Amino acid sequence: FAPPAPRRRRAARAAAMSAEAAPGVAPAEEAGQRRAAVLAEMVEEAAVWCAVHGLVVGDRADPRSGTVPGVGLVHAPFSLLPARFPASFWKQACELAPIFNELVDRVSLDGEFLQAALSRTKQVDEFTARLLEIHEKMKAINKKEDIRLGLHRSDYMLDSETNSLLQIELNTISSSFPGLGSLVSELHRTLLNHYGKVLGLDSKRIPRNWAATQFAEALGKAWAEYNNDSAVVLMVVQPEERNMYDQYWLVSHLKESYGVTTIRKTLAQVEAEGQVLTDGTLVIDGRAVAVVYFRAGYAPADYPSEAEWRARLLMEQSSAIKCPSISYHLVGTKKIQQELAKPNVLERFLDNKEDIAKLRKSFAGLWSLDNEEIVKSAIEKPDLFVLKPQREGGGNNIYGHDLRDMLIKLQKEQGESLAAYILMQRIFPKASLTPLVRGGDCFEDLTISELGIYGAYLRNKDKVILNNQSGYLMRTKVSSSNEGGVAAGFAVLDSILLT
Ligand code: ADP
Ligand code: MG
Ligand code: MG
Repeated sequence: FAPPAPRRRRAARAAAMSAEAAPGVAPAEEAGQRRAAVLAEMVEEAAVWCAVHGLVVGDRADPRSGTVPGVGLVHAPFSLLPARFPASFWKQACELAPIFNELVDRVSLDGEFLQAALSRTKQVDEFTARLLEIHEKMKAINKKEDIRLGLHRSDYMLDSETNSLLQIELNTISSSFPGLGSLVSELHRTLLNHYGKVLGLDSKRIPRNWAATQFAEALGKAWAEYNNDSAVVLMVVQPEERNMYDQYWLVSHLKESYGVTTIRKTLAQVEAEGQVLTDGTLVIDGRAVAVVYFRAGYAPADYPSEAEWRARLLMEQSSAIKCPSISYHLVGTKKIQQELAKPNVLERFLDNKEDIAKLRKSFAGLWSLDNEEIVKSAIEKPDLFVLKPQREGGGNNIYGHDLRDMLIKLQKEQGESLAAYILMQRIFPKASLTPLVRGGDCFEDLTISELGIYGAYLRNKDKVILNNQSGYLMRTKVSSSNEGGVAAGFAVLDSILLT
């Protein structure tokens, strides 16, 4: 987009003149002021765009915002400009999606492997034990899931030490932000269409993001496979959910593109209102359920009483398609991630050597805590590691001094307690200065980013109906924070600008 030479000279002259016109202001300083003025204009335009396009979340300040739709909305926190991301790593991450989808499916079928790999974790982690108990019950009745639906998100960071793309984790349950994530890409495209020239950024370098429609397509196609026109999709949700509009985007696409109705229920409501008929049909509110889509049920807090566990078991026993099934859920645990990274384990599940090599290249160092040497290294150099319990949803990992103290404490206990955790190589992305917008205010901070690639997988017996990369989510957080939950208030939604 370079303007022809004469105009460029004119622009340069104009810039020089205006610098002269403001005595005492250095050109660089003036450029900085101009950029600040452009950014201020963009903040307002962006906030308006969010409001009129549904890039919104419930506002913490309004107590009803998590339960009553349409009340107390605020724009989702976002980065004002897309994060730069090398095209080669983008391509690499996209190529991994269908391979991880297939891997999850294969591992899910090996009940013995899941039970064995998690057997020690089970002794010390009550939550994992409860999930395994359901898995065991399904194994005992030889429950088969012919139709299998996976809506995953594999998360990566670029490690600046090794200049490589490394996987943080693979989410197989409640992968969040397919709805809002695709909107952020649109927001950035719109902003760069208006301001890209001034900023020297080309909107065409933002990859298209169809996460919301692609996840809805997968849910719609799964619903069609179930083959009951009067059945609904059941979205299992938390009693309070300020991220409900991310979920409602899928509900809306499902209705508009596939004519499918979604009902939302908490685990407690499923327990109170649900039943399984003798033919296996899950019925709730008098309606048959074709697909159970979990946006809750991934954390211990989602099961405050036995009622919620009964609901989980009830749904698992039914013939409804579970997204995820108990097996898919277990494959997404941190312990299984660590087991799959051991030598010769991927080979048990995949045949294609190139696929295996691609996956392995994206694995960071992962260790169980029965590796004494690694535990010793981690105590000596805690900043090079992350200690992870079997938890989801952010805010659970342990870093630095806390990591050292925890390892020393666990070692002293000498029991099985070490088995509740895994150790992971700490990844160090390069930090950059980014304007972040939250609650209408913009502030610049040093940030690092994590790229999530969505994957959708649907099969019915031997027929693979979908196996796709399905859009992406960039999350950017201030680099001083170890964990970066968007909901927790440390991270913002972002998109990428390929370099
Ligand atoms: P969760 O399932 O709770 O999201 P994650 O494994 O994604 O667990 O960890 C949460 C956050 O912690 C990540 O989003 C990332 O910011 C940070 N994190 C996790 N693993 C690493 C790592 N190996 N190196 C650096 N940061 C990490
Ligand atoms: Mg997770
Ligand atoms: Mg995560």
